[in-house]
Amino acid sequence: MQEKPYFCPNCRSNRVKFSVISSVSQRFMKDAISGSIQEVNEPQQIQDSEPMIQCNVCNFAGNELRFIKQAEREPRAMTPTNPTYM
Ligand SMILES: [Zn+2]
Repeated sequence: MQEKPYFCPNCRSNRVKFSVISSVSQRFMKDAISGSIQEVNEPQQIQDSEPMIQCNVCNFAGNELRFIKQAEREPRAMTPTNPTYM
């Protein structure tokens, strides 16, 4: 995950509350006849270069890049009611 501001492109009200959705790989052995699971190994994190991010306000989930791009388009300080230049 990148150390950059996020902004939810869906609800456009959340910059702080997110979840990361990552993939895990978990090995297991099956019984060839009964199909029952015999042995389960510890889950292992799959390293994604671009993790999925979920907004905890509206539950929208998308690529991390979409949240970063939205924050770049609409930075915190650049709201019309609060201009940075005076
Ligand atoms: Zn949202």
